Amino acid sequence: MILEIKKLMARAAYTGEFSFEYQPPQESILIPLCRIDGGVKVTGDYEIFENDEVEVTLKISYLLVGSCSYCLADAQKPVEYSTDVLFVTDKDDCDNYVYDGNRLDLSTAVNDALLFSQPKVLLCKEDCKGGKFN
Ligand SMILES: [Zn+2]
Repeated sequence: MILEIKKLMARAAYTGEFSFEYQPPQESILIPLCRIDGGVKVTGDYEIFENDEVEVTLKISYLLVGSCSYCLADAQKPVEYSTDVLFVTDKDDCDNYVYDGNRLDLSTAVNDALLFSQPKVLLCKEDCKGGKFN
């Protein structure tokens, strides 16, 4: 998931949109007995500023499937999440993501968004009380 910032600037494409399909590693799924079905859809837009900083709006969506955290019945939940992040070229900046001014790799930001987006539990229904025959 790379944005070629130098090339985009050469084309004067200072703003634009992108979309990727992403297969996350299983260890990025925090809920036990769950997986992401069919990958993560990543879309968003970017704006490149004069100082080479890049503001990115990330939107991710995916389908979480697995066993209900309370009763182990089959469960699934569509998840959508969006976040604004800033990429800077100053390596000492600890508040933002850093890139080299040329190729901007969205992977870390997408992985972070994936972690933040996940619910703490996956439930078969809103009011599942647990127990096999509930
Ligand atoms: Zn349940």
